[in-house]
Amino acid sequence: MTNPVKFLDLHTTHSQVRPALDEAWNQALETSGFVGGKHVDLFEAEFAAYCEADYCVGVGNGTDALELILDALEIGPGDEVIVPANTFIATAEAVARVGATPIFVDVDPTTALITGETVAPAITERTKAVMAVHLYGQTVNMDDLLAVCDPAGVKVIEDSAQGHGATWRGRRAGSMGIAAGFSFYPGKNLGALGDGGAVTTNDAALAEVIRSKANHGRKLDTKYEHHVLGRNSRLDGFQAAALRIKLAELDRWNEGRRNAAALYRKFLPESFVPYVEMEDAKSVYHLFVVRTTKVDRDTVGAALQAEGIQWGIHYPIPCHIQVPFMVEDNPTFPVSEEQAVQIMSLPMHPHLTPAEVERVCAVLASVEAAADSAAA
Ligand SMILES: *Cc1c(COP(=O)(O)O)cnc(C)c1O
Repeated sequence: MTNPVKFLDLHTTHSQVRPALDEAWNQALETSGFVGGKHVDLFEAEFAAYCEADYCVGVGNGTDALELILDALEIGPGDEVIVPANTFIATAEAVARVGATPIFVDVDPTTALITGETVAPAITERTKAVMAVHLYGQTVNMDDLLAVCDPAGVKVIEDSAQGHGATWRGRRAGSMGIAAGFSFYPGKNLGALGDGGAVTTNDAALAEVIRSKANHGRKLDTKYEHHVLGRNSRLDGFQAAALRIKLAELDRWNEGRRNAAALYRKFLPESFVPYVEMEDAKSVYHLFVVRTTKVDRDTVGAALQAEGIQWGIHYPIPCHIQVPFMVEDNPTFPVSEEQAVQIMSLPMHPHLTPAEVERVCAVLASVEAAADSAAA
């Protein structure tokens, strides 16, 4: 068999910056600066600038980032927060963890994203915020969403765990809502060498509250005064050093993903339908997701696997039908539910070659042709 086509290729990513990572690790051991420190401060400044946001607070992971934002906004029991049915479970978890109620809404069938239209009917007196998930690397249409939320006094929180570097009408993900949560889980577009996360915001007071709450409620610049109930969710010094090294390459790596996506769009056979990249959006293609509309997913998946092509599903079970979020008279969301059984994530990473994309598309074409001739 020919070489496998990897779904994700962190080994190549890291080999491109390996000497710098080795040096960062050596320095971490030399200085024993493991939690916080110089690299955390520098990374926060650099990542805020990258996101075109005024403030950045490094935290333990992306889920904590979202939870800390909700907590700092004093969202809790009795409050409702609107969440897309089709997202990673963490978006809804963060809402439930602060005691608020996630209210799920469906997504647009062409983008898999929430819109002003899908959100508006779900807004009630109790709605405090919407989680705008920039799913698969593409931003939500923020203008439409804000036009619906602002007049209702509903805050828009960006879940940008899949959106590092994405833009909407030239504005960067992480700069458009009241605050944004980022994940640096290793497989994300900007990944640490372990868990990590950040909050970006243009609100100075909010940034301060989050920084304090993420560090045991310490009054800033004091050691022993804990003025609010906090917790421990901090970014490690070594992770920040690694993230600084990788942030410098992020635009180039995102461009590699965009090139691969453009080739997929060119070579995909007709019955494999990719999500639309909106004219005003610039996706960073965290994932390249297609819907299989003619051949069932198991058949397609088996054919890919037989050719050594790795693939995934994001996500096979919408959040509202995951056990912790089921309620009596559970609502149904037709788009999310229908697409959950069709979607396939094809290999996508910065180093995917044109030949690899063509190989994937050739397998899909042969699966489609076989189905056509069986039907004839
Ligand atoms: C990864 C992810 C998260 C959670 O990030 P962690 O760092 O794994 O906690 C939240 N939301 C979305 C959409 C994600 O993809």
